[in-house]
Amino acid sequence: MKEASTDNIQFRNEFSSGIKTYQDVSKEQESLNAQLLIKAGFINPELSGVYTYTRLGCEVLKNIENLTREHMSKWGGEILMSSLQPVESWEITDRLENMSSLFEARGANDISRKLNSSRYILGPTHEEIATPLAKRYIKSYRDLPFAFYQIQTKFRNEARPKSGLLRGREFRMKDLYSFHASEEDFLEFYEIMKKEYMLLFEDLGLADDTFITLADGGNFTEKFSHEFQTLLPQGEDIIYLDRKNNIAYNKEIVNEENANRLGVNFDELEQVTASEVGNIFPLDFKYSQPFDLTYTTKEGDTKPIYMGCYGLGTSRLMGVIAEKFADEKGLVWPERIAPAKYHIVTVSKDNKDIAHEKSKELFEVIGKDSLWDRRTKVTVGEKLNDADLIGCPFRLVVSPKSIENGGIEVKRRASDVVEYMDMEELFNKYGKTR
Ligand code: ATP
Ligand code: MG
Repeated sequence: MKEASTDNIQFRNEFSSGIKTYQDVSKEQESLNAQLLIKAGFINPELSGVYTYTRLGCEVLKNIENLTREHMSKWGGEILMSSLQPVESWEITDRLENMSSLFEARGANDISRKLNSSRYILGPTHEEIATPLAKRYIKSYRDLPFAFYQIQTKFRNEARPKSGLLRGREFRMKDLYSFHASEEDFLEFYEIMKKEYMLLFEDLGLADDTFITLADGGNFTEKFSHEFQTLLPQGEDIIYLDRKNNIAYNKEIVNEENANRLGVNFDELEQVTASEVGNIFPLDFKYSQPFDLTYTTKEGDTKPIYMGCYGLGTSRLMGVIAEKFADEKGLVWPERIAPAKYHIVTVSKDNKDIAHEKSKELFEVIGKDSLWDRRTKVTVGEKLNDADLIGCPFRLVVSPKSIENGGIEVKRRASDVVEYMDMEELFNKYGKTR
């Protein structure tokens, strides 16, 4: 990978920014999102399906996850469950043999001491921790309903991961778990979650292209689970889309029995590719029963607890958004999740002239929400290319020409229109920060 020089891009403070772009990316990175994100310096490939989030990437991931928190905290408290999980709990739910993608961890020192007891599961999901944990908090009907969530790195030994952030072997997920006294109460919460997810997709700029999709995986009464599928040309799923009724069906459930059950003629629906960004499940008693999670009713009877779980792929979302909005020049981030709102490009030979002074003032005033390219050893063309690759919503060029024309040359990443204005006009029109 040929690197661009980045001796002096500033981000948030005066230290070296840790930002680097690349002119080309190894062909081994087959997916569009990995190509875009590696080239622009947001992620670094470590192993197949395993990435480091670099400075810019970490900003975007944090923005996605903080928006997720804003929505989920309305309904449950945030916790952080352990990644290392006891094998015994996976035996209780009978998933040790039945989940094909499990990663197991062993302490090397325990192996050498021939200790068999220390096997752990590296959490691919957390029902095995969440259900016994809930027993500590739920005793009677007064403790219900109850919900908590976490945002965490998950581990799944996916076969041949080649979709970049869309399918990692180590990836980020938000998972919420809910506990209810009755099916009725559960269903009410389940509908609330569907709405909350759609509000989150609105904030992420994905609502118009994200569809609630019936899929396999529900238990007992509700036979289906509900996926949130975002239309994406290189998405891994195929869905049957009913635009009129604003609903879709995962191809995996499409058969005659379901056609009759749901009263749907699948042949009339459009087939499109999409990426599953979220999945919510009615769990019924699937986990509460094996862990004996019960509550006492008003009358003193003991009853099992209804559960639901609600997953959201935060790192997959980053990959989906990267692919969905990019153009031939590079990334185009929606404003809410961009690494910074403004990308300042200074055109100055030696960082001693008025263009430098004006840029410095701008950077100091905008501060946190800008990235400042004050490199002098690369051409203006290269700097503009980097701004396009990185994809912040606004590019602000400060040059002798822009100063002559009224101050700053302002261009939105997603448009070709160029405007000139001074700092005050800029803030009045577009705001200082997000
Ligand atoms: P898939 O069918 O794509 O393998 P899944 O149905 O096994 O996913 P869930 O257990 O429903 O996944 O996980 C909740 C969410 O986590 C998914 O909707 C998806 O957005 C995300 N996710 C799951 N597996 C991965 C992965 N390997 N890499 C990135 N995100 C993932
Ligand atoms: Mg799923």
